[in-house]
Order: sequence, then structure tokens, then C-alpha cells
Amino acid sequence: MDQEQLVMPGDKIGVEEEYIAADNTFVDDDGTIRSAIIGKAVISEGRISVVNERRDVRKFKRGMFVVGTVTDDVKSVMFVKIDNVSVDGKEYIAIKDGKIVAQTRRPPGRFDRGGGREGHGERGPPPAKAEKQAGVGDVILAKILYEDPEIFTLTLNDNEAGVIYSDCGLCGNEMRADGTAALVCDNCKNRVNRKVSPLYDNPEGIKRLFVQA
Ligand SMILES: [Zn+2]
Repeated sequence: MDQEQLVMPGDKIGVEEEYIAADNTFVDDDGTIRSAIIGKAVISEGRISVVNERRDVRKFKRGMFVVGTVTDDVKSVMFVKIDNVSVDGKEYIAIKDGKIVAQTRRPPGRFDRGGGREGHGERGPPPAKAEKQAGVGDVILAKILYEDPEIFTLTLNDNEAGVIYSDCGLCGNEMRADGTAALVCDNCKNRVNRKVSPLYDNPEGIKRLFVQA
């Protein structure tokens, strides 16, 4: 394995046929050696261990943006596999997954006095029924609302947040943001309504967002 690579708790780093499991590792019943900590795997004289050489490893916190992939959509909850992010020498480690609890859009005028923070201006009347903000397989930029021991609760209700990459569910072609709340497929003309991030397909812009954090 690549010894420069950062390993996470639970990552497979070897098997007992190859190495003796040493510091900061544990062994599964089937002989798989796994890392017990965040760090770098080191092999020396047939022993494999994991060391944390004080890299600037940080955990995501409330209020930060994360990038992840929607893996499941069960009733009104979307589950998100959060990516680790390396930016400016700092490595942000997710460790756990995220979830987004779907919110139905409010009917117009009921609570909104017109001075909404996000300025609905030229978007026209909201659709009559609730629509999915994202779909399974979409890559999203989301903000951490709060953190539970097992999971991050995320939201897409932020100006920058939304879908940042998506493949067509029908033909697999890369979807294009059409500048409204929709993604379109130029290949098969599929069209889906989404909460599209203004940073759709803009990795540099997304990176800048993390640098600011
Ligand atoms: Zn398509």
C-alpha cells in the first residue's frame, strides 16, 4: 500500500499473512489488519503500525460546508457519504456520514412577508408540490446544521449549497445546470428539478469556500 496515504480508523492496511499487527492497529477475525487511528501506515521489519505524525488533521464542525454524495433516499431523509477534504495543508476528516431531512416548500404568502432572506425575486411562483432538493448519486455541497454522535445533520438551505455534480439518471451523461432550479441532460433531454448550487461544476469555487472556513 501507499505509505504516504492517510488512513482512517477501520481502514484495511494489510493482512496477517504479510505483517505483524503493531501499534494502533487491530485485526479482524479473518486476519485483516485495520488502523485504529487517523494516521500513516508504517511498515518496518515485518511489523505494520499506524503513526500520527501531527499532520494538521481536523474534524468537520457545525457551520462548515461539506461535499458528499447522496447514497440513499428513504422517505423524507437523504443519506450522504461525506468526502474528506484536503485544503491548504489542512485535512478535514468526516469519520461519519450525514443526513438531510427533506423539507417541503411552504405555500407562497403564508409565512413569507416578502422580505425573505434569500430573495426569491425572479424565480417565479414556487411549484405546487414538494420537490427533491437532490437525488441519489448527486454530489452535493451542504452545510452542517448539527452533529450527533453517529451522524451529521446537513442542510441544503444555504445560498451556496446544493447539487454540484450530477449524472443523468436515464443515460448517464453529465448533467448541465441550466441557470434555474433544474439540471438538464443534453444527450437525452432529461430534466430534473433540483436545488442547484451556484458552484455547480466549479471545483475551484468550492475550494475557495473551504479556504475561507
Ligand atoms: Zn440523459
